[in-house]
Amino acid sequence: MLSSLNADLHSHSTRSDGVLTPSALAERAKRNGVELWALTDHDEVSGIAEARAAAADLKMPFIAGVEISVTWAGKTVHIVGLGIDENNADLKEGLRQTRSGRERRAHDIAAELEKAAGIRGAYEGAMQYVGNPDLISRSHFARFLVEKGVCKSVSDVFQHYLADGKPGFVAHRWAKLSDALGWIQQAGGVAVIAHPGRYDLSDVALTALMEEFKQLGGVAIETVTGSHTPDQYAEFHNIARRMQFDSSRGSDFHSPDDCEVDIGFLPALKPSATPVWHRWQQLL
Ligand code: AMP
Ligand code: MN
Ligand code: MN
Ligand code: MN
Repeated sequence: MLSSLNADLHSHSTRSDGVLTPSALAERAKRNGVELWALTDHDEVSGIAEARAAAADLKMPFIAGVEISVTWAGKTVHIVGLGIDENNADLKEGLRQTRSGRERRAHDIAAELEKAAGIRGAYEGAMQYVGNPDLISRSHFARFLVEKGVCKSVSDVFQHYLADGKPGFVAHRWAKLSDALGWIQQAGGVAVIAHPGRYDLSDVALTALMEEFKQLGGVAIETVTGSHTPDQYAEFHNIARRMQFDSSRGSDFHSPDDCEVDIGFLPALKPSATPVWHRWQQLL
């Protein structure tokens, strides 16, 4: 049955804030039984060619993906694009613009950490963990602060230093929702709301986001993701059915040392879901 396919359509490599190269990630996905895989680096598609070639060598069906950082109603929201042509010029230019503020922001985060928490050298420290100089992220700062012994885990760093309202948080304006969907659609892909249960939005605001997303042509939401609790799998399954969204499934895997769920190890979608991968049946 299609809904029980071991599809993992959300994961990160060293081209963004993951710790495995696209090839190593492909090998891990295959070993863990993944039957359809998407690489979805933040604001970046430069790992897709390597990922596609590695997946082909392993005879693992693959679709190209990306996770775009969006600012909607003043909050950061992530939109996954699946089945994109990573060479599309509009998409590439949009992603380039979206990435372009990260360097400045990283210096600002380091300055905040020094000013508010007395932590020095955080920019240089985070850079040691960066695989792609265009894509310095809060995850890289988190790994450095764990190395320094400031916190025991990456999630502790977010809780105490990097989340909204904490001493190292720097507000940032990402892409517009309508632009992100436009780039994905220009590149022939479909748009998916990543981990909808993770946003700091009221129920009313979340519904407004999903309605606007649908109006802009968005087709799916992640229901089963490493960022949701089992209760949230059910909650978002019901929302997807009610709002006529397809369901997507993805671990959001970043690192073997520090992950909610390993790639390929999530529970299946419910049989009554419409899996977003019905669109790529020819690959299976
Ligand atoms: P950035 O795009 O630089 O703002 O970084 C966002 C990334 O930080 C997310 O994609 C996650 O990988 C990571 N992240 C955000 N919140 C947390 C958290 N509470 N625990 C662990 N990682 C987190
Ligand atoms: Mn990430
Ligand atoms: Mn995300
Ligand atoms: Mn992600």
